[in-house]
Amino acid sequence: MATKSKTLPKVENKKSGAKQVPVTLIPGDGIGPEVTEATLAVLEAVGAPFTYEWRKAGVAGLKEEGDPLPKSTLESVRKTRLALKGPLATPVGGGFRSSNVRLREEFHLYANLRPARTLIPGGRYDNIDLILVRENLEGLYVGFEHYIPIGDDPHALAIGSGVNTRAGGERINRFAFDYAVKHNRKKVTLVHKANVLKALTGLFLETGRAVAKEYESKGIACEDMIVDACAMKLVMDPWQFDVIVTTNLFGDILSDLNAGLVGGLGMAPAGNIGKDAAIFEAVHGSAPDIAGKGVANPLALMLSAAMMLDHVGEQDKGRRLRQAIDDVLLKDKVRTGDLKGKANTKQFTAAVVARCK
Ligand code: NAD
Repeated sequence: MATKSKTLPKVENKKSGAKQVPVTLIPGDGIGPEVTEATLAVLEAVGAPFTYEWRKAGVAGLKEEGDPLPKSTLESVRKTRLALKGPLATPVGGGFRSSNVRLREEFHLYANLRPARTLIPGGRYDNIDLILVRENLEGLYVGFEHYIPIGDDPHALAIGSGVNTRAGGERINRFAFDYAVKHNRKKVTLVHKANVLKALTGLFLETGRAVAKEYESKGIACEDMIVDACAMKLVMDPWQFDVIVTTNLFGDILSDLNAGLVGGLGMAPAGNIGKDAAIFEAVHGSAPDIAGKGVANPLALMLSAAMMLDHVGEQDKGRRLRQAIDDVLLKDKVRTGDLKGKANTKQFTAAVVARCK
């Protein structure tokens, strides 16, 4: 992945003299600590250059430091500009605002890169290799909403607004087209709902079409599609897509759909990328139903760590980690329960560590 930031801080290992890259490590809630431990083991096995600053967020942050996004966590990311993050639980309806969304806003992580690749052939869909680029800071996710009470009902009416800007639309579309050029992709699909949300997603479409013109000469084709049709086509014939770029909420939904095409949330990595910082995380949540049981699939966070290796210019190590995962799944046939295997988290991790070495 050619998203490397030239400004990432590096420190020297006093013993070996090798350059090391500091990373803020946020294990998170639920299965977070289990999949983080697994991921650290494979990063070590592959010889990753990372040193870790352990920090809290989500429910763990609230319980231990009285804040779902403690100052010490923010300060660490401000310094390292790079984080590996487990899932953070967010209450539904009331309660505190999502720490994930706050982190993205705080560090202007405008692009959410979510690849979906078939890891285990023979499922309902084979040979999937899709990239979804989700706008990460605007749209209906800005959370501008409130209730209006009528009579006795304090929740009689709910109002929500979205915000899209020309600058934000240009930025995310350019990210998607640049990604396509750098990774030898052929087509970008702009996904919108400009037939109904004419201003909000119309502006995204307008900027996307303008950016697409600049990339015609670079061999990148462009098409646009309404989000509902896109969802149907992804299920009927996902191979027609290459890179998809879309607004925040649609990207959230379609990236889970794409994860479903390749075997579920346990396989889906993500990078939240901005100009000055990047946070890598699994797409799945804290899975409270299986937390603490030692059965979680750590693959998604491992694949996110491989993206992080690419990001800091360690593409060889990223490739080795991905190859080790492929070998474990396909040659060793070691898989966790969500993939109809028998391995627990520790057994799966040990198999990947062995393949890395
Ligand atoms: P979830 O992703 O946690 O779980 C959905 C289902 O998938 C569950 O049955 C779970 O057991 C399974 N699953 C998820 N990850 C798995 C893994 N690695 N291995 C095996 N099975 C796995 O979604 P949810 O239940 O809707 O959300 C739970 C909490 O997570 C909520 O508080 C939500 O806000 C939060 N969440 C956080 C993030 C994030 O931090 N990026 C993303 C999504 C949800």
